[in-house]
Amino acid sequence: MTKENYTALKTLLSQPQQITLVPHQNPDGDAIGACLALFFFLSQKKHLVKVIAPNNYPDFLKWMPGSEEIVFFEDNPKEATEFIENSKLIFTLDFNSFSRIGQMQQCLELQKNSATFVMIDHHQSPDDYAKFCYSDVSMSSTCEMVYHFIENLRETASINKEIATCLYTGIMTDTGSFRFPATSSTTHQIIAKLIDKGAENSKIHQQTLDNNSYNRMQLLGVALNNLKIIPALHTAYITLSQKELDDHHFKKGDTEGFVNYGLSIKGVVFAAIFIENTHEGIVKISLRSKGNFDVNSFAREHFNGGGHINAAGGRSQKSLTETIVYFEKTIKNYKLLLTDEN
Ligand code: 5GP
Ligand code: MN
Repeated sequence: MTKENYTALKTLLSQPQQITLVPHQNPDGDAIGACLALFFFLSQKKHLVKVIAPNNYPDFLKWMPGSEEIVFFEDNPKEATEFIENSKLIFTLDFNSFSRIGQMQQCLELQKNSATFVMIDHHQSPDDYAKFCYSDVSMSSTCEMVYHFIENLRETASINKEIATCLYTGIMTDTGSFRFPATSSTTHQIIAKLIDKGAENSKIHQQTLDNNSYNRMQLLGVALNNLKIIPALHTAYITLSQKELDDHHFKKGDTEGFVNYGLSIKGVVFAAIFIENTHEGIVKISLRSKGNFDVNSFAREHFNGGGHINAAGGRSQKSLTETIVYFEKTIKNYKLLLTDEN
C-alpha cells in the first residue's frame, strides 16, 4: 500500500464507520488473531465493528480476548448478511480470494460495488477486489502485517494488551512458534514490542499449545501409526479416515500440526496429510516442505488448492484410497525436485 493509500484510509477512519472483519473459512490462529486485533483497534476508535467468520474455529483458540464477539455466518446468515450490507468498510484478512470464504462468497461479491474493501494477506496471487490491498508473500503472518498496518497509520500507541495478545498468537501459530523460514528479525522485533505492550508470551504458548484433549493425543497416535515414508522421494504422508476420526470424537482443530510430524523425520523434505471428510464428500489435504520444494504449486496443480511455498493445502473429490493412489503416482514426476540437498 502506498503512503497515499494510508492517508486516504486515515481520512475514511476519521469518522465512525460500520466495519466488517472477515477471516478465511476454517480460520486459524493467524486469521482469528488478525480479526480480533483489528476488532479491538477499530472499536477503540469508535467504529461499529463485527468479526464475521464463515464458520467456527478450533477450541484451542477460544481463550483469545474477544472470542465471544465473533459471529459465525454459517449459524447466523441473516444477522451477518444484514451487518455486512450496512458496512462501509470490509476487511478481508489472511486470504486472497473470495473462493476461500465458503458460504460467505456470494454475500461479499454483492458488496463489491457498495463497500470499500481492505485486504491484508500474505498468500500468493491476490484477487483484485480490494481498493486497499496490502499483500506481501514474504511476511510470516497476516498478524505481522496488521502490526505494520497499524504502524503505517502511526497508531502503535493504541496497541493495548488485547491487541498485543491477539497479534502475538497469530504470529506464533503461523510461524510454528517462530521457526518457519518466513520468520525474520523484524518478526522477532515486533514480538518484542508486543511483549512490551502486555502480551504474556509464555502464557500464550501454554494456553494455545498445552491444551490438548486426551482424544486428540490418541488420534495423533493413530496418525503416526498410519504414517508412510517413500524414502526415494524424501516424502512422508499420513492418512486419517472418517472412521478413525469418529472413533476419537474428532473436533475441529484436532489434526492441526499433525502434518509436521512427517516433516520432522530425518531426510524427509515433503510431508502430506490426507483427512477424509465424508460429510463434505472430500479429502482435505495439508502439504508441508523443507527448502525449495514448492507445495503451493503442487497444491494448485493437483489438489485445487494453494498456500505458500512451504505450507499449502487443497482437497480431492476422490475417495481416500484413490487420492493416495493419485498422490503416489503424481509425486514420482517430481523425483528431481524431491531431494534432501535443498
Ligand atoms: P493448512 O494446511 O494449515 O490448512 O494450510 C496451510 C496453508 O495453505 C495456509 O496458508 C492456507 O491458507 C493454505 N490452504 C489450505 N487449504 C487451502 C485450500 O484449499 N485452498 C487454498 N487456496 N489454500 C489453502
Ligand atoms: Mn496466515
